Amino acid sequence: MKIGVLALQGAVREHIQMIEACGETGIPIKKTEELENIDALILPGGESTAIRRLMDCYGFTEALKESNLPMFGTCAGLILLGQAHLGKLDITVERNSFGRQIDSFERELEVKGIDTTATAVFIRAPHIESSGESVEVLSTADEKIVAVKDDRHLGISFHPELTDSKVFHQYFIDMVKQLSFEAAEVSE
Ligand code: GLN
Repeated sequence: MKIGVLALQGAVREHIQMIEACGETGIPIKKTEELENIDALILPGGESTAIRRLMDCYGFTEALKESNLPMFGTCAGLILLGQAHLGKLDITVERNSFGRQIDSFERELEVKGIDTTATAVFIRAPHIESSGESVEVLSTADEKIVAVKDDRHLGISFHPELTDSKVFHQYFIDMVKQLSFEAAEVSE
C-alpha cells in the first residue's frame, strides 16, 4: 500500500517513518501529479494558514477537492479536511482550542475502535465544534471532540507521529485496506 504525505509544510518525515513502521510505503507528495500513484493521503500538522496558501499555490486545493483518495488529517491537517477548506469531513473546527504553544501537552486517550489507550501530543491543537450525521466521534479530551471519522476520512486534533505509538497510522491503513477490498468486491 502506498500512503502519500502532503509535503508542503509540517511534520512530514515523522509520518513517513510511522507508515514505514506499519509495513507500508510512505511517499512525500509535492506535486499534484504524484497523487495518481498513491492509495491514500495524510495531511500533516503544521500551520494551517501556511499549508492552505501553499495548497492554493500548487494546485492541491482543486485537486484534493476533486480527489476520491481516503485522507487522514492531523492537527492543521484536520482543520484543512473540515467544511471551511476541503469539505471532506462534515465538521466545523475551532483552532487553538487548548491554549498556546507553551501549553502543549501529552495525554493518554481512549479511542473507539482502538483497544489500547493511545498517546496523543497536543500542540496548539484545534477541536471539532460540530459534526454532521456522516461523522462518527472517536474520542474526546476535556469534553472537546478530538478524533472523528467517516467512511473515507480520519481526522484528529493531535500529533500521533510524535509518539512511539503507531496505532492511529495502523487504524488509517486498516481503513484504506478495507475500502480497497470493498471496491474490489464491487468490481468483480
Ligand atoms: N494551531 C495550528 C493551526 O491552527 C495547528 C497546530 C498544529 O498543527 N500543531 O493551524
